Order: sequence, then structure tokens, then C-alpha cells
Amino acid sequence: MKKLECGKAVSGALRQYYRDIWEKRPLAWSVVSSNPLNDICNLLGIQVAYPENYACVCAAQHLSEKYCTIAESNNYKSDLCSYIRNNFGFLLDEGPEHPLGGLPKPDVVTVVSNACLNYIKWFDALRLHFDVPYVLLNTPHKMSQNDDPSLYVDYVAGEIEEAIKELEKISGRKVTSAKLKETAHYSREQGKYWREILELNKSTPAPLNFPDLANLIFVPTSLSGTELGLSLLKQAYEEVRDRVKNGIGAIDDERHRLILLNIPPWYRLGISSYFAEKGCVLPFGDYTRYVWCTQDIDDSDPLEHFAYKALGMATDSGYGSSTVETLYGPLEKRIEEDIKAYNIDGAVVQINKSCKIMSTGGLDIARFIRDKMDIPVVVLDADQADERFYSDAEFKQRLDAFFDALGE
Ligand code: SF4
Repeated sequence: MKKLECGKAVSGALRQYYRDIWEKRPLAWSVVSSNPLNDICNLLGIQVAYPENYACVCAAQHLSEKYCTIAESNNYKSDLCSYIRNNFGFLLDEGPEHPLGGLPKPDVVTVVSNACLNYIKWFDALRLHFDVPYVLLNTPHKMSQNDDPSLYVDYVAGEIEEAIKELEKISGRKVTSAKLKETAHYSREQGKYWREILELNKSTPAPLNFPDLANLIFVPTSLSGTELGLSLLKQAYEEVRDRVKNGIGAIDDERHRLILLNIPPWYRLGISSYFAEKGCVLPFGDYTRYVWCTQDIDDSDPLEHFAYKALGMATDSGYGSSTVETLYGPLEKRIEEDIKAYNIDGAVVQINKSCKIMSTGGLDIARFIRDKMDIPVVVLDADQADERFYSDAEFKQRLDAFFDALGE
């Protein structure tokens, strides 16, 4: 697989980001999913650390299993999301060594209710653990297929104003309207470039494979609303556009284009090489398209921009709306359109043991793709971070049968 040149700049930004959370204060712990409080924290000079991202780092370094076990021995139930168990296991671990030096204690925890229902209790537990202020941005969830985000925008904009007052107290700085406008602009432009990159990936051969997208997603999530984030995404966009112009694919001999549904096993991202050996590229997935909801939202009114950003995740095609969408069918429609647009000829559906929100309805979607769209599907059972539920032999056995169905 060919690595992106801009990957070096992204890795450099990631290293700097981890240095900053140790060297600069104040520090917030927060959730990544389309969370405007992160943009506001960046604007106010509050560093933001993400325990979810950190769980992926721990999983990639094969430490999540250890942390999950520590959490379980302290009464955190094994059914709980492995990101949460990883987080509390890391906090309760008495050993001196942690990946990237660990995460320092926060001055505030901030959370948004737009995606996963676990977030609120997880961060409430962190508030109790650290005894620090807790800033919650409440966003209503989609309750029926006709629900419209515009019904809630004033309410959520009001919530953001309240949150700004709390965060100003923590940082000792003020949000000016000029700064808010500038931050909304960066947020919007980042959304635009991310979407453009995904659009370019409709080309054959696909310029990016799933691991490229999974690495790049660090930018619009962790650096949201910043000039640096925008410049990195522009660089990535230009490089991907050049690849398309020159017919350069992410893998050498693309023969199949697959959709990947759900969060991948972070400890085994190398499995994409096994796909590449069979001529399979993964140009599209719900994790990189529906989870972050970084769409091009009008920023003429910055508060409204941020309200729609949070609501997009909860009600308007983001993953927070997926349960109701699975029940009523629009998720199938979205996936069907994307499968056609990306010229997909096979589907990989992962069922993650501890991520209920992304796994609910996964088997229904798998059946829909196989029976209604007549596309081969493989269902893989694992967990996104807890390696104890992964079996390489079982994965490969299922994948080999799938590659047979694809004609490989
Ligand atoms: S349950 Fe799923 S969506 Fe929620 S925090 Fe865990 S991995 Fe993320």
C-alpha cells in the first residue's frame, strides 16, 4: 500500500498535539464526535485530550486488553464499551509506563450527547474521578424518521452559549465574535475538504484505502476549528487529487472495492494488507463518512453553524441517528446510494461486541446488502479495542470464504 506524503505532516501534528496536552494548560478531556465544544476550547486556548482516541492508541499498542482487565477487576462490567474500560483501566493502573506518556489530569471534562449514550455517564464518572467541572452540551436525538434538525437549532445554540460562559471561566479568556466567526470558518472548511477527499475516493482506482482515511480522521476531529487542521486537510486533498489525476491507486492491483461498516479492530489494522493481497481496497465506510458529520455547514451565523454541527450527528445522517434510521429504513437508503456511488462489489460488516450503537442493526444491514443488492458480504465478530475477542484464524477463515465469493 502506498503511504501519503502528507502522512508525515499529520504524524508530526499528532506528536505535537500530545506534547501540548502535557505542556499547556488548562486541559479539557472531551469526546470527538462532531463536538463544537472542542472548537470553542481550541479558540479559548484550552488544550483538549480525547480518551476515545487514546483508547485507539492503547489498542494499537496491544495494551487495551491489560487496561480492560484492570477496569473489570475494579467492577467495571465487561459489557461496557472497551474504550471506557480502557480509560478507567489506564487511570487505575499503578504502573509507570503508558503509551505516549499517558494523559494528564484535566481541569474540566466536556461532553456532547449527540452520538453515543454512554458518553454522558462516562464523563460524569470522570467528573467524579477528577472532581473537576463538567460541561455538557445537550443535543436531542432523532426520534422518528421525519425529525428535522432545524426544530432544535435555537435550543442547541442556547446550550452552546451557556457552555461558552463555563469555558470562559476555565480559560480566563473571552470568546469574541470575530474569533467565533473565524473558528466556524475553519470548522466549515475542514468539513468541506474532508467531503472532497471522500468524493475523490469514488474514483477507480481508489486513491485512499481505509487505513489512510483512519489516520487522516485525526485532523478534522482532534484539530477541529483550527488553521493547522485546515492546512493539513488541504495538503491531503491536493495530494489525493493528484493521485486521481495520475491514476494512482492506494493499492497496486485494485480488483474489488469494499465497503467497511463499523469501527475496525485498532490492534489489527494490518489486516488491510490481507485484503490488498486479494486486490481488495476499502474506499468507503460508515466510520469515515457518517460518524464525524463534518459536512459543509453554512457559517454566516457561527453559533448556528456549531449548533447544526452537533445536531448533524444526532439527527441528520450522523451515527447518533442510526438506531432510528435502522428501524425506519433511511440508513439502508443511504448505504445503497453510497454503495452505488463508490462502485462497491463487496461488504465487510464488523459487529463490535462492546459498541452497541454502531453494531445495532448491523446484521439487518448485512442482510439488506446481500439479499437486496446481491453483493457478497462477510460478517466479522470482534471488538474495536478489546483484543480478547479477536481470533486471527477465525477472521481469515471467514475472509477466505468471502474472497472465494468475490471470485478470488
Ligand atoms: S459504545 Fe461505541 S460509540 Fe460509544 S464510546 Fe464506545 S465505541 Fe464509541
